[in-house]
Amino acid sequence: MDNITNLDLTQLEKRLATNFDSGLKESTAQQRLNKDGKNEIKQQKSVSPIGLFIDQFKDAMVIVLIFATLISGLLGEYYDSITIIIIIVLNAVLGFFQEFKAEKSLQALAKMTSPKATVIRGGKEQKIDSSDIVVGDIVLLSGGDKVPADIRLIDSQNLEIDESALTGESVPVLKKHQKKVKSAVISDAVNCGFMGTSVTKGKARGMVFATGMKTAMGQIAHMIDSEGNEPTPLQVRLNQLGKVLVSICLLVSFLVVLLGIYRGENIYKMFLAGVSLAVAAIPEGMPAIVTICLALGVQRMLKRRAIVRKLPAVETLGCATVICSDKTGTLTQNKMTVEKIYVDGKYIDVTGEGYTPKGRFLYKNSILDKLNGKSSLLQLLKIASVCNNSKVIKIAKKLGSKNYDIQGDPTEGALNVCCQKADITKEEELIGKELVSELPFDSDRKMMSVVVRDKNKLTGYTKGAPDIILSKCKKVLMSGIEMPLTSERQREIESAISRLANQGYRTLAISYKSNVISSDEKHVEDGMTFVGLTAIFDPPRKEVFSAVAKCRSAGIRTIMITGDHKATAVSIAKQLKILPPGGRVVTGAELSEYSLSRLMDIIDDVYVFARVSPEHKLKIVKALKEKGHTVAMTGDGVNDGPAIKAADIGIAMGITGTEVTKEAASLVLSDDNFATIVEAVEEGRNIYDNIRKFIRFLLSCNVGEIMTMFLAMLMGLPLPLKPIQILWINLVTDGFPALALGVEKPEEDIMKRKPRKKNQSVFSDGLDFKIFSRGLIISIITLSLFIIGYRTSNQNIEVARTMAFVSLIVTQLVHVFDCRSENKTIFEMNIFSNFYLIAAVSLSTLLMLAVIYVTPLQKVFSTVPLTMQQWVMIFGVVAIPYIIQMLVVAYKYLVKKPHYSSFLE
Ligand code: ATP
Repeated sequence: MDNITNLDLTQLEKRLATNFDSGLKESTAQQRLNKDGKNEIKQQKSVSPIGLFIDQFKDAMVIVLIFATLISGLLGEYYDSITIIIIIVLNAVLGFFQEFKAEKSLQALAKMTSPKATVIRGGKEQKIDSSDIVVGDIVLLSGGDKVPADIRLIDSQNLEIDESALTGESVPVLKKHQKKVKSAVISDAVNCGFMGTSVTKGKARGMVFATGMKTAMGQIAHMIDSEGNEPTPLQVRLNQLGKVLVSICLLVSFLVVLLGIYRGENIYKMFLAGVSLAVAAIPEGMPAIVTICLALGVQRMLKRRAIVRKLPAVETLGCATVICSDKTGTLTQNKMTVEKIYVDGKYIDVTGEGYTPKGRFLYKNSILDKLNGKSSLLQLLKIASVCNNSKVIKIAKKLGSKNYDIQGDPTEGALNVCCQKADITKEEELIGKELVSELPFDSDRKMMSVVVRDKNKLTGYTKGAPDIILSKCKKVLMSGIEMPLTSERQREIESAISRLANQGYRTLAISYKSNVISSDEKHVEDGMTFVGLTAIFDPPRKEVFSAVAKCRSAGIRTIMITGDHKATAVSIAKQLKILPPGGRVVTGAELSEYSLSRLMDIIDDVYVFARVSPEHKLKIVKALKEKGHTVAMTGDGVNDGPAIKAADIGIAMGITGTEVTKEAASLVLSDDNFATIVEAVEEGRNIYDNIRKFIRFLLSCNVGEIMTMFLAMLMGLPLPLKPIQILWINLVTDGFPALALGVEKPEEDIMKRKPRKKNQSVFSDGLDFKIFSRGLIISIITLSLFIIGYRTSNQNIEVARTMAFVSLIVTQLVHVFDCRSENKTIFEMNIFSNFYLIAAVSLSTLLMLAVIYVTPLQKVFSTVPLTMQQWVMIFGVVAIPYIIQMLVVAYKYLVKKPHYSSFLE
């Protein structure tokens, strides 16, 4: 590395064949990407399809079954053993597809959240995937960015980088582009930035000298913990449950075998039946279907513009009891316009539409045409234009849309547009002057300053939160003349700030300091001259009104957390009905005073936190969590990371959010919109519901199968199903119908229920009883039809088994419709609304009919074609529970209608 850190920048520029200002040409970058490969740390082992397929046979019970089948083949049962092997392979194929799909979805999830970086290519600034960065690229960095590759700094302003990911050092390192260093140690390389580290402060431009595995991070890749896809709490619990279920299934199957042998059945046949039963009853597909369900939910969330970064969030979302949301850009549109300016004790109106830099300045309805050369207003606009990094750009005119847009921070964009309405631009203001340094905006300081050299004089230009700026001013500009900031003038300005904020305006103060002697923050921003205020209008997002109302009915409280002024926050919170009458508003200053327990005492009454700094957010999360809440928290800035990590669901902004926040978050909003969070919560609740639905289905069917065999043995009946029949039933009913339940649409009342508790059992609200009782009913129906078939066919075991086989499948395929809702019966919903379920059930029915009507299959499965009378018997018995259910529904609607209709509302 010595040869990089110790080189002259121009030498390095030559060596890397790039250009500081215009970067690489797009074609050159493409060639380098093809040659050097992606800028990625390769450590993820991708699962091979063959490996995944072989894995399907690794299950202990499947191995036992294969052995048992081979033995039965050797004993002469060729048909049986070949068929069982075919069924095992088909089962494996199904399992393989489920797991393959689950795996692919997880990989797609990882791709969706790939980090982005800003580069200059072909003279243009652009955002690209960090993985597409090549050697020679010119990278731009600012607070909250991840350093995308190893770079040598070309220039930098107050750049600080957190290199803990690489060096373990938790204090951010101050970087200096000017220095040349002669050392091969990372911690000494102050003129470089390294892949995987993050910018905590300042700005910089750098030249990429290493990418991918050639970076310092790539060289220690084996030491890095890969984040991977952590299992969700539900997956962990289901895995534990799976083990219990396996034990129960094995125990019952063993009992079935023992009972059968005791009753005089052939030992070997009973063994095969027991193993087949165990294979059928163990819900081995459950983990894969849960993953698919989660992954499909993730896809649906993506369509609704919420990108899931960590799978557990999908589940936790449904438990959210509070959503703490930023105001600017999330609850509001972030389409800002300066509507008023306060200077010289006067309020000036600014006219104009959107970002179009055309408009007028009015005082008491008269136009201020020519701005006086010395006026405070002109001074204010000049400062606002220079202390500004945004750009107003012309965009191709589309039908009905405006033809101007802004690039950069929307607040600065609004100020820039306002300045251009008076024909003031940064470029013209800086003619003959030099921009010496910048103290970038951050949410802690709530200010931004630049230092400008004009001849030999340095002047600091500052803009920021009015209360903070005012506290740092000693003078005030009145009609272009500096006057002392008396307490009377201070009061006047304070009342102007309150007045504008009360009207919902986002306010910024503009100030300056002449004769600056150093670019140091403390010096530039202390003892300034106050020039005036700008009042920016940022309308609430229309969709947020209904989203907040939806949250309320779903038992979720919305809390606004903003860096903005208290009065501005209150005004917007009232408009959006976030702040109810009597709801409390707490400021950052008050929060700093409160202990955690004091905050916990009041937090359930607080709806708005205003003028807070990012570290306050962490305190808020802690207090809410201590009170037992499940907290969703949004963030965008670099310092929001800890709070986002601490929240149950950390949410980052896709557009305005920094890479660091995105990395910490479990959900990223691609449209920065509060309404999207609420949609994600709804989807989260739906996914959980669907998981419960198919668990209910799978387990009640398995209980049904196992009880059928167990009860038959207890009652001294012959085996009601042959091993092949059990395996076939498992194949036909377990796979597709269960999967189809995973894509059920949300039920109507999904956002009218209270949030579920985070640690609530998946079997809560009587699901365990439903599973067991339905399993019992399934087995009673099957056994009854087995006995009826046996008695009515002169004890023909094949007829009896076919009746049992068909009734077991039919009860399961009807039951799948019950599982679509926990509150409604089959008679209260539209059975056809889930197309996939209809398709899955139709396919399963066809497969069942094939086994009893296709002659070669009849031989293999020992079935007989059923007569009309037998079908009527089957449907008659299967219908009994539904007839009872129908009577209950009729009673509910006819007799108790008034009560139930209000319940259903
Ligand atoms: P939220 O947390 O809801 O997104 P916010 O965006 O208003 O709130 P901050 O970005 O921390 O919060 O801004 C706080 C205050 O800092 C604003 O009210 C404004 O006065 C001032 N401010 C915002 N942006 C800038 C900027 N680019 N330069 C200088 N001051 C700014």
